Parts: sequence; structure tokens; C-alpha cells
Amino acid sequence: MKPAITILFWLWVTVISAGAQTEAPNPLTLTLEPERITNGAPCIFSVASSVKLKGMAATWQERRIFFDFDSRTRKWMGLAGVNIDTVAGYYPLALVATLADGTLLNSTYDVPVYQLRYPTDELEVAREFTSPSKATQKRIKAEQALKSRYFKIVTPQRLWRGAFTPPLNSVITDFFGIQRMFNGERQSVHQGLDFRAATGTPIAAMNSGVVLLARNFFYEGGMVVVDHGYGLLTLYLHLSALRVREGEAIQRGQVVGLSGATGRVTSEHLHVGVRWQGTYIDPAKLFQLSLPQ
Ligand SMILES: [Zn+2]
Repeated sequence: MKPAITILFWLWVTVISAGAQTEAPNPLTLTLEPERITNGAPCIFSVASSVKLKGMAATWQERRIFFDFDSRTRKWMGLAGVNIDTVAGYYPLALVATLADGTLLNSTYDVPVYQLRYPTDELEVAREFTSPSKATQKRIKAEQALKSRYFKIVTPQRLWRGAFTPPLNSVITDFFGIQRMFNGERQSVHQGLDFRAATGTPIAAMNSGVVLLARNFFYEGGMVVVDHGYGLLTLYLHLSALRVREGEAIQRGQVVGLSGATGRVTSEHLHVGVRWQGTYIDPAKLFQLSLPQ
């Protein structure tokens, strides 16, 4: 369990009941995990209530946060993530709690996001991309369209249970967020984690979910994408063999494929990515979160 701080709402909330508006003290207490939410990282909003609630929902940075009641902590918990390019500042979390009688309780809390500087890697020469053939360009375009369609999917059910676990037991060779620079300009950002993995190493699903994609792509090679619900996807790249089918329900630890060096890579390794509602977040930080069963 990571340290967490508890912040009391200082706002008074408006209770809307049968058309009449009355001022009442806020029964909700919000806790953030981790204590300092940073760009490129996942986070958990935990809400305790002094009155019985039927439901909880929120929006933050124009994204919907799904909440579940966690019987361990007796709090409502919602998982979210912050884009790596989000600047430090306060971002309002708009909470809507449903009381036992159906009354909606609206409240807002300014959640601070702190700046995390990611390491840079200065390139000696600009990356050269040999221009692909007409047929390959067509393939790349079609794959980009397909990915952007699939990556938008937000399944309104939670398919994950408990903690996310690494896809294999190995050394991390390249961290999330490393910025490749040339002449002071960012050329690319590493959108996931690289693990050392000899070709043929079994790769396990990081949590339970449904297989969204299991096919070959030009850049990613053999790729499996698992939908964990609530807009959270995990990606497994450069696989030499796929062991699951699209649409299949899978469990945490189930082998999704074998590692390899397929797609645009220079050597064998496993690249994994985590997407939350359109943005990549650091998989290593997701593994550290204490999540409800
Ligand atoms: Zn990578």
C-alpha cells in the first residue's frame, strides 16, 4: 500500500431534492493514491462517505471515471490516468454520488497534478526512416485507422480484478517516458516498458479481460491488445506467436503469446504498453497500485 493523503472537501455541496435546493455539509472524503499524482502515471481516487451511497461516478480531464465499492477499504474507488504531456496544475474532479434514495450529490475537487521530468536521450543523428513502398504505406494507413478505432473503446464494465502484474519475470531494459531528442527537439517518446525476453518466452496477461486484438501489424509485429474494461487496455508487442483469439475472455497470468522480434525492431524484446482512455501511462506505476478485487 502506497502512502496516501486524505483531503477533506472544503466545499459545500448542493443537494438537489424534489426541486428544492438546500445547503448541506459534504459527507464525502477524497483520498488520492499516489499522494503526488504525476503526468504519465495512473492514479486512484478513493471516496469515503458518512452516508450510505448507491453509486458514484466522476469526470476528470474530460474523461469518465468509473467507481466500484471496495469492501476491503469500505471506499468507492476509481482508476484514472494522466497523459505524459499534461502540465502541472489543478484539474477539477466532478463527483456525482447517488444517495440511497436516489438523490444526486454533486461536488467538485481540484486535484493537483505534479510535473515529473522524464529522462532524455540525445540522438547523435536524426532517425532515418526509409520510405516504405506504396503497398506498405497503404498497409500502415489501414492499420493506423484500425488501431485508432479500437483504442477508443471504453467498455463500461470492469473486467480486471486486483493488482496488475508484470507479463514476465525479467529485467526492464527501457523505461516509460524516455524522450529521444535531436537538436533539442523531441523525436519520440517511449510509450511503454521494454523487458529483456529471448524469442519464445511465454508472455502473460497483466490482468483479466477480453482480447481486443491479436494479429500482425507492420510496426508492432505480432500484437495482442487486452481490454480490461473502464477504458484500460494492455498491449504486448513484437510477439513471435499469438496464443489467444480476438473476443476471448482471459485471466491474469494466461499466456497471450510468445515474445519475439517481429515488427520494426532491432533486437528481440517484449514491449508492453498501457492505455487509459486514449492516453499511454507508465505500466511500472500501474503494477504498484493497490486495486480492489
Ligand atoms: Zn519499447
